[in-house]
Amino acid sequence: MKHTADVVVIGAGVHGASTAFHLAKGGAGRVVLIDQYGVASGPTAKSGAMMRPIFTEAPYIQLVQESIGMMERWDEIVGGDAGYVGRGFLRFTVGFGAEELGGDLELMRRLGVNYEVVDAAGLRTRTPGADFVDTEQGLWIARSGYADPVKTTRALALAAVRHGAELREGERVTALLAEGSRITGVRTDRGEISTRLVVNCAGPWSARLAAAVGVELPIQAHSGGTTLFQRPLTLPEGGPILSDGVNQVYLRDVSESVVRAAHFGWTNHPVDPDDYDETISARHLSSLRTGLSQRYQGMRRAVFAGGFAAVYDMTPDGHPIIGPVGGVEGFWCNCGWSGNGFASAAAVGRHLTLRLAGQTTEVDLGMFAWPRPPTTTRRPDSAWIRR
Ligand SMILES: Cc1cc2nc3c(=O)[nH]c(=O)nc-3n(C[C@H](O)[C@H](O)[C@H](O)COP(=O)(O)OP(=O)(O)OC[C@H]3O[C@@H](n4cnc5c(N)ncnc54)[C@H](O)[C@@H]3O)c2cc1C
Repeated sequence: MKHTADVVVIGAGVHGASTAFHLAKGGAGRVVLIDQYGVASGPTAKSGAMMRPIFTEAPYIQLVQESIGMMERWDEIVGGDAGYVGRGFLRFTVGFGAEELGGDLELMRRLGVNYEVVDAAGLRTRTPGADFVDTEQGLWIARSGYADPVKTTRALALAAVRHGAELREGERVTALLAEGSRITGVRTDRGEISTRLVVNCAGPWSARLAAAVGVELPIQAHSGGTTLFQRPLTLPEGGPILSDGVNQVYLRDVSESVVRAAHFGWTNHPVDPDDYDETISARHLSSLRTGLSQRYQGMRRAVFAGGFAAVYDMTPDGHPIIGPVGGVEGFWCNCGWSGNGFASAAAVGRHLTLRLAGQTTEVDLGMFAWPRPPTTTRRPDSAWIRR
């Protein structure tokens, strides 16, 4: 029997799951959410899932604020548990310019972000186990935190199903079907689904899918390592995300006894998202340890507890591609989040759903259109470190 759908969402990472949830909840008809492996089986599963509204562009700040609001009332809005831990975010820095901070403090303030600038003495009080020089300062954002990326994505996908969506796991879209310049369906390794609307949420695989309808997306997969350590006794459990802009490393809790840490950024060499080295090298571990121990003496001897490489779907300017793309009617994208997509994901699906219904929303996603409008400039933190 030939299947039909009103919308096929390709990819059940956090963006596909959020998109399917909001579409199904918003009454978009028969919504199919499809993933080649399963819900949260791609980069989403390895995400730091940190949510902090530090940006130079309004849409990101608005989306992250909205997503944090959803996290705070997750059970009521979505249902289930996203594993959100709202213990705040502390950035160490020597300056507050956009290139250094990746954010525009005045814009953030105007959009309702409550932050506090902390001097070196304040940093020492707030961060036991860390060393600071007097020229260093901090940015404290109390309404920030991190979630469990797998729980979040599963909760969104299950909520989509409760609202009537069909979830198809272990099924790969092998081609997008079009007649003239209009989408007519997708072909999968199990058959065909007729549809007039496809949303490409395939992360690092998005460019391959788009190529199937002649659309070229500039998305490359780049890898980056994350490392787990046993928590040193000098680093108290239960604190905020510690983001060190000076040494360009971050640290956050995983459990009472384990922390996760990584350099800011990713490597500069494209990889194949289906076949890349998922381990981290001794060189990587050593360089991370150096970065961490410049700030926390206790990290010098912290016990290595494992690590993994993950893939980021990078665009040249560090911005995602959102909206109808390439002049192919019925082909929409929500991909290319460039290492930055978890924090906005819960809310993005809502705005996309409204736009698909022909409505405008309070968040202007125009800067993420593809081809890019000339006014869209590079995200300042997208070039921080390339290894
Ligand atoms: C190590 C790491 C740490 C990060 N930390 C943060 C953070 O702290 N804060 C933050 O905001 N962001 C962070 N990010 C970025 C964020 O996690 C990603 O932007 C986000 O998870 C991307 O989700 P997605 O749904 O777009 O894509 P993905 O998670 O890539 O999901 C795409 C899905 O599409 C499926 N798919 C692909 N092709 C097909 C096909 N042909 N047929 C069917 N299914 C297909 C895949 O199987 C996959 O499940 C981090 C990323 C990484 C890798």
